[in-house]
Amino acid sequence: MAFTAPSEKTIRDAIGDVSGLPAPLQRAFAPDRDSFDPIPKPAPNDWLAVHEEPGQTFDEFKASQPNRPTQNRGVIYLQPLGDFAPDRSPSIDKLREFAATFFAMEVNALPPIKIDNSKFTTRRNPYTGNPQILTGDILNFLKNRVPADAFCILAITMEDLYPEPSWNFVFGQASLRERVGLYSFARYDPAFYGEPRTPGYETLLLRRSCKVLAHETGHMFGLAHCTYFNCLMNGSNHLAESDRRPLHLCPVCLRKLQWNIGFDVLERCTALERANRAAGFIDEADWLNRRIKTVRGE
Ligand SMILES: [Zn+2]
Ligand SMILES: [Zn+2]
Repeated sequence: MAFTAPSEKTIRDAIGDVSGLPAPLQRAFAPDRDSFDPIPKPAPNDWLAVHEEPGQTFDEFKASQPNRPTQNRGVIYLQPLGDFAPDRSPSIDKLREFAATFFAMEVNALPPIKIDNSKFTTRRNPYTGNPQILTGDILNFLKNRVPADAFCILAITMEDLYPEPSWNFVFGQASLRERVGLYSFARYDPAFYGEPRTPGYETLLLRRSCKVLAHETGHMFGLAHCTYFNCLMNGSNHLAESDRRPLHLCPVCLRKLQWNIGFDVLERCTALERANRAAGFIDEADWLNRRIKTVRGE
């Protein structure tokens, strides 16, 4: 499948008409080449080499009438599923804080649920022998437990998942209209692949987990995969590709999320810089620091 890099015009069309917006928003949504890297040319096994991605302009996004948070449905819930052993799992509280800053919304963590084998279909992966849970069973279970004030509920787990018997595994799955999602962080731990947990792996595990949480929750707000820049919302086929994506949104995707949620871009940037620095994601914090100056017009 041939992927053509987007032209300047394609990118401007995707961002859409910003002339009626306040100056800080215009600056935040400008296709600034110093801040935003081009989307990399896909290698044979990369997402864009395997999947036809039509892209989604800001106008197309709006026309799709995505779910939006409301006064009555304005909380993102995290539902831990199974064990989150502190020595091999990201901290739920840190994930919660990161998501709350990223989406500028209230994010609550629900009490963990034990994995009940009588409720969920499980198997041993035919290749690795590792235990896995069938995603459909968990999604069905979640659909009946969506809190009344939930914008969405996201189950997070350290267990490995599979979507159907013929598949090897899946990182996660969601049902957007039903407001439920499910993500596994099992494959973000080097130990899953029999590799050593080198110093700093906690930061790497947290960063990968924050990234998948922000990407997948982005889909909940109606953002499709991004084809315009190197962006958090790029599709990803494997771990190296997902590690290559940044932890931030390009101008097209930021405009979508800002329109959907209505946050103050500068306030969000400032809070995110602090959150990234506290989490040890220094390159992202420094990048945000530069963005704050740009959005302020300095
Ligand atoms: Zn995705
Ligand atoms: Zn994007």
